[in-house]
Amino acid sequence: MPDPALLRSAIRDVVDFPKPGIVFKDITPILSDPALFRDSITLLCDTAGGVKIDKVVGIDARGFIFAATVADRLGAGFVPVRKKGKLPWKTRQIAYSLEYGESVVELHEDAVCPGEKILLVDDLLATGGTAAAAVKLLDQLGADLVGVSFLIELAFLGGREKLLPHPISSILSYD
Ligand code: AMP
Repeated sequence: MPDPALLRSAIRDVVDFPKPGIVFKDITPILSDPALFRDSITLLCDTAGGVKIDKVVGIDARGFIFAATVADRLGAGFVPVRKKGKLPWKTRQIAYSLEYGESVVELHEDAVCPGEKILLVDDLLATGGTAAAAVKLLDQLGADLVGVSFLIELAFLGGREKLLPHPISSILSYD
């Protein structure tokens, strides 16, 4: 069974990146370690609770790494939620505020069909603005959102409140 403590000890805190006052959680040491990367994917897959997932939706950009790999492992499709202007087809979009700045995310309007079972995956839950925007897009398309899963949750920022009542999972929580 994967040990989340090993993942936690691999995460590198980078102080004042990308702005003063932000402690950036650098997950690249997990990605570059074959065992840790596999363990992180196993733990994220477990958050689906055995439900047959149709599509895993990942958030630009680090979320893609985890979501696409989880999708492959679960035998599901992968759908990207991207920052404004990157998706070529017809999109739905939502503006939201970040822990550091403002942004707009988009989803192809035919990427998810009504009733499809969706797992939303991102690397990190901070204020919850990004994931909440993605959830709104999925709700608009009639998705059956099975869960919202993160490798890391900065619990002290209270972001999960913005995602209720959807089931939220995080592998590592920081108080
Ligand atoms: P938020 O919308 O505030 O929940 O921000 C979440 C998004 O911003 C995630 O996609 C993260 O990749 C990124 N992010 C926010 N804060 C941090 C942080 N302290 N360390 C690493 N990534 C972060």
